[in-house]
Amino acid sequence: ADEQAARADARELAAADRAHLWHAMTPYNEARPPMIVAEGQGAWIADLEGNRFLDAMSGLWCVNVGYGREELARAAYEQMKTLAYYPLMHSHEPAIRLAERLSEWLEDEYVVFFSNSGSEANETAFKIARQYQQQIGQHARYKVVSRYRAYHGNTMGALAATGQAQRKYKYEPLAPGFVHVRPPDPYRRPEGMDEAEYGRQCARELEETIRWEGAESVAAVIMEPVITGGGMLVPPPDYLRLVREACDRHGVLLIVDEVICGFGRSGRKFGHQNYDVKPDIVTMAKGLTSGYLPLSATAVRRSVYEAFQGTEDYEYLRHVNTFGGSPAACALALANLELLEREQLVERSRLLGERLRAGMEELREHPLVGDIRSFGLLLGIELVADKQARTPLPVEQVTRLIAACKARGLIIGKNGDTVAGYNNVLTFAPPLASTDEDLAFLLATFKSVMHASE
Ligand code: PLP
Repeated sequence: ADEQAARADARELAAADRAHLWHAMTPYNEARPPMIVAEGQGAWIADLEGNRFLDAMSGLWCVNVGYGREELARAAYEQMKTLAYYPLMHSHEPAIRLAERLSEWLEDEYVVFFSNSGSEANETAFKIARQYQQQIGQHARYKVVSRYRAYHGNTMGALAATGQAQRKYKYEPLAPGFVHVRPPDPYRRPEGMDEAEYGRQCARELEETIRWEGAESVAAVIMEPVITGGGMLVPPPDYLRLVREACDRHGVLLIVDEVICGFGRSGRKFGHQNYDVKPDIVTMAKGLTSGYLPLSATAVRRSVYEAFQGTEDYEYLRHVNTFGGSPAACALALANLELLEREQLVERSRLLGERLRAGMEELREHPLVGDIRSFGLLLGIELVADKQARTPLPVEQVTRLIAACKARGLIIGKNGDTVAGYNNVLTFAPPLASTDEDLAFLLATFKSVMHASE
């Protein structure tokens, strides 16, 4: 009888879902019923019916420490009891301590502005970059250079910086002043070109774009250390450093979007640390709280912050949001950082990433596998219909593989660029706290699905 009641409840909930809840990125006529997720523990989630899935996407690339961490819930609860809210025109200890800790994680002197989402962190970065240029007398600088295939968020500015047409064109015109360049995609580089030379060429193209636009009109460049949502495009090792140098030559600020790559995901604390560059601005969200509460941050190098010293109305940052840096979210983020350190999850991410990559390598010979690329505990497998021609596998086939994984209890992602026809990259970003058994399950399940498709 209990079971029957539970099934009736589940049906009622599904009906209410269809009647009232507008889902992200989901077509109206989606045939499958929604997966109503009821709980999570470690790397695993369970739906209402008790079906369990290994979540190899960490939700939306964010649950770095895994699900069910009571100490994070407790940190937020205790803070809410003491001080639930106060805006950051004033101050409170959780925000102060978190800003200080983030500066330590960034291994340099940064000053931090808090918001609620990755999109907002990027919007804040654009406003800071534009105003910074004004403050130092560079009045004509307002453009932001970003890359095709990049995703930087859903708001008008962050979406303007995004380089994926399918997310944009029903909402245009977006914010003006955003210019796009080609990202490095080593798998599809010109035939015969050495990878390092290709990286130099891409960085040269970016610099030439700055020149063609008129360097005196460009305020900033924004990029992720590797393009994640656009299909796991890992640049040649020198690329980010060359971009940094180009920015320096032209007085352009470098904003690095660490929304996905931050907080250990890359095998270092932040993705850019793998490339030995110092960004002027670093934006972060997702893994900052491991997704437990909304919080994002825009960290600005002290030297940039120092330009905001005037006291006139327009000389300081005219920017505020109600919820950013809420005491509970900051307290939770602090507990999250502590946990990442105590359990050495950054190192764990590097190790798991290497093992995931090694485990997947045997699929290189598979007829549908064009490329396998990784960055820390982020992995992408580019699927092709024809290995020689590198023709992207049609999305229906990609979707079928993902469904087959889900039927066997494994959730993986699909990324790329729909309009350009590259909607063919399977993505893996399991929690950094995944166990050895979780990784073994992930590899065995995925390989069995791939072998069944041969
Ligand atoms: N930047 C990157 C690289 C992202 O992947 C995302 C979200 O997926 C964002 C920014 C936007 O973050 P949010 O969805 O929290 O606004």
